[in-house]
Amino acid sequence: MRKSNEVLRIGLASASLSTVGYPVISGVLTGSLLLSYLLPQEARKSDDVDNVTGLLCLDAYKKFLNETMLKEIETPKEHRRIYVVSLDVLGFTDINKEYGYSAGRRCVRQIARIINQQGKVAFAARPFADVFLLAYVVDSIDEVENNVFSLIEEIEGYESTLGFVINLCSGITELQLSDDEGVEVDVVSSAITQAEIARLIGKRNAVKINHYKKEYARKEVEKIKMEDALIRSIENDEISVYYQPKIFTERNSVAGFEALCRWYHKELGFISPAFFIPLSEETGFIHKLGSHVIEQSCKLMKALKEEGYYDVSFAVNISITQLEHLDGKPFFNHLKSMIEKYQINPNLLELEITESVAATDFELIKKHVITLRSMGITVSLDDFGTGESSLYRLKELPLNQLKIDKSFVDDVCTEKGAEIMESIFGLAKAMSLTTVAEGVENQEQENKLRQLGCTYLQGYHLGRPMPEEHIRGILQLKEGD
Ligand code: C2E
Ligand code: CA
Ligand code: CA
Repeated sequence: MRKSNEVLRIGLASASLSTVGYPVISGVLTGSLLLSYLLPQEARKSDDVDNVTGLLCLDAYKKFLNETMLKEIETPKEHRRIYVVSLDVLGFTDINKEYGYSAGRRCVRQIARIINQQGKVAFAARPFADVFLLAYVVDSIDEVENNVFSLIEEIEGYESTLGFVINLCSGITELQLSDDEGVEVDVVSSAITQAEIARLIGKRNAVKINHYKKEYARKEVEKIKMEDALIRSIENDEISVYYQPKIFTERNSVAGFEALCRWYHKELGFISPAFFIPLSEETGFIHKLGSHVIEQSCKLMKALKEEGYYDVSFAVNISITQLEHLDGKPFFNHLKSMIEKYQINPNLLELEITESVAATDFELIKKHVITLRSMGITVSLDDFGTGESSLYRLKELPLNQLKIDKSFVDDVCTEKGAEIMESIFGLAKAMSLTTVAEGVENQEQENKLRQLGCTYLQGYHLGRPMPEEHIRGILQLKEGD
């Protein structure tokens, strides 16, 4: 977890005004100030405007906040303060799902209209989906709180025209015109972050208006922010699935692919699954994420079949929590519906379960593996050799395949490593299991594994995980197509 927090901290710092290209505190007044307009004049002409609501986009909001701040520094007035408010619709994904995306759009437009009618708000933005940012230049926090309160009351009262209830939560923070410690910080970005943190913590505690507090600035908060970003990642189109080829040694052809998900966070860039898979498991997001990966893979399988490519298998990693949740019912229902919807040959669908998991929850895994096999799905034991499965347990599981952990592949060119690998292959043969060696990184390892009789090879040496657009380039069309 520590690693992720570090990444996040760096990300937040670098997500400063660099994207906007404006100075943080330069002492120079840049551009004009149009505080009395929700949408500053110059923004009206440019792509600074969110075309759904007519409010500002995030970059433009930051820009105007920066200008407002510089103006206040230049000509300070007693009591005058700048506040940032983050406002969020609760359960917006459900509104979109239940009533359709047009209803979601009507909802955010309605909110924007009400914000626009508020004379107190200096300017406002919709940075993404259902999140709004407001800026206030007033004499006291009470004015802000009263205004936000009446805004929320008015918006939540709109159920009659929209056909559903809107519930909101908000976070408030004051933009610090001078930094206590004299440290150069991006005050605009950190004010936005603080308002969002206040909102997220408020949401957790069912508080509609929450003020930012200094004690929030701890690592736990960064985790909450990360969780929130993760939960929104699919709807924000930040999750993609990469596919790594698996080579059939006997024919030297691509037998299939392993689906590996990727999260591209708009501020932090690519985030490793090693970080976000455990976080997804902790938050329960893994169910949605797992379903997404299965659907993407099935959709692709159908497309390839229709385009006339030779059959290839698709392997999806699954977490134990997906099987544990409600005794695996939602997982199996989804799997069945995907097979039906995309007319998948279940033999071509593989599920990879990690060995350590199989060792700890053996009875549960055994039951579910039996169900999967009865559906015709191929089951693979991932990271084989790293867990504590006894031979007895291995014999009890109706598996199809052993996926040998990279650590054994790394050593295969040593005498001892080759002997160990040989005994794994002997074991697999005795149990009629096929074998996959993962993490093959060079020709020497490939040669040795071929010589020892490994069924499939996978690793950077044979092909890296690649986006969907690239996989057709390594597949063969059926003759006559
Ligand atoms: P894994 O299932 O053991 O996947 C293999 C990992 O090794 C992948 O890392 C892959 O990119 C990497 N890899 C492949 N070939 C080589 C190689 O030659 N050298 C080296 N050094 N690495 C290689 P990745 O994509 O970062 O995934 C990490 C783990 O995250 C996966 O380990 C898997 O356990 C998990 N994961 C990824 N996608 C999903 C998913 O959709 N659902 C679940 N539950 N877990 C997933
Ligand atoms: Ca795997
Ligand atoms: Ca593995």
